[in-house]
Amino acid sequence: MLDILACPECRGHPLKLYAFVEVEIKVDGRAVRGLIDQYGGRGLICSFYCGYKRSLVGGLDESIDLCIACLSRDVRYGILQCGRCGRWFPIIAGVPIMYPDYIRLRSRRAQALERVFLKRFRERIPYGAIDGESMDRLEKRKEDSVER
Ligand SMILES: [Zn+2]
Ligand SMILES: [Zn+2]
Repeated sequence: MLDILACPECRGHPLKLYAFVEVEIKVDGRAVRGLIDQYGGRGLICSFYCGYKRSLVGGLDESIDLCIACLSRDVRYGILQCGRCGRWFPIIAGVPIMYPDYIRLRSRRAQALERVFLKRFRERIPYGAIDGESMDRLEKRKEDSVER
């Protein structure tokens, strides 16, 4: 679940979700009710941070409709951004790719994955989610690490 993911570099959380491609999945309202009860009947399944509302759970009204909407959404492609250090992580085919810098900057495979992702989605990344500077810095560091 999104609300338990933390930044691999600075351990910051929650991570902010930007969804680019999502599919709707049918959820059974009774099963959601059961989950809510299982989680102590607090009313929300996301225990700390709800990626659907992009909000800490404390600031949300408890509502089963909200949880159904949240659980119905399967994000296939998007990014997660750390609110503390600003690093971003791609979600590819439904899987958050949470590589720490030492892999991200050295692994050709990780870089190839990100290059393909950016080629497809760069325009969709909302202004301010990734500032030009931090993105260019990451790319610059990648170039440096490839040259080495
Ligand atoms: Zn939620
Ligand atoms: Zn971070």
